[in-house]
Amino acid sequence: MSTFAERLAIIEERIAAACRRAGRSRDEVRLMAVSKTHPAEALEEAVAAGVRLFGENRVQEFERKKESLTTAVRAGAEREGIEVHLIGHLQSNKTAKAAKLFSGVDTVDSVKVAERLSEAALALGVRLPILVEIKLSGEAAKTGASPDSDELRMLFERAADLEGIEVRGVMTVPPLDDNPETARACFRQLRSLKEGWAQTYPKLSFEELSMGMSGDFEIGIEEGSTLVRIGTALFGKREYPVA
Ligand SMILES: *Cc1c(COP(=O)(O)O)cnc(C)c1O
Repeated sequence: MSTFAERLAIIEERIAAACRRAGRSRDEVRLMAVSKTHPAEALEEAVAAGVRLFGENRVQEFERKKESLTTAVRAGAEREGIEVHLIGHLQSNKTAKAAKLFSGVDTVDSVKVAERLSEAALALGVRLPILVEIKLSGEAAKTGASPDSDELRMLFERAADLEGIEVRGVMTVPPLDDNPETARACFRQLRSLKEGWAQTYPKLSFEELSMGMSGDFEIGIEEGSTLVRIGTALFGKREYPVA
């Protein structure tokens, strides 16, 4: 079995190669290690290998995990700027906890969640970076705001006045599909949408384009991603599925 550091080196090489193919500089793309379902020790191993940005899916899961991270890692997290973002759906009754636990929330998809997060962040005296999650496939069960929904328009309009949050960009999860070109079409669409939104909402930042996971991060990079979210290819298969 390979070590975390070896798997990380392989992913790093693939990211660098995708950047070269796309004529992009390596430092335009950040790697987020998605540690959901993996124990605190897995995060510690990743930190030791140099990972500084993590994604977790559930408020409660990370709350427990954080408790079992060693004091050294927790101290290091503050010293070395380790960030853990929430990349799973956030319910509005968990916004206070989320604002406290995470250094960013990448899945905001409603005015209500944005307002509550902002309120919670203000109470903590912080400004929380957020991404707006966009739903590009029609599947009813999926989270995220639809590109031409009133909810999204209201969210972008309201966000500029919410002082506890700072919109940094958008993210999407493409529909499950074995054909990588499905993901490419999705990523291309999001990039073009965000260019339009950047014009329409000049008070917000749309710098961050979070797209690409273990199976399609190279396509994400080719289509302009600034943040790839990689779980399985770094930590191995998850023991149990995540809703
Ligand atoms: C689980 C998850 C990932 C990572 O998926 P892998 O295929 O394991 O790399 C990325 N983004 C989100 C939103 C996820 O829920």
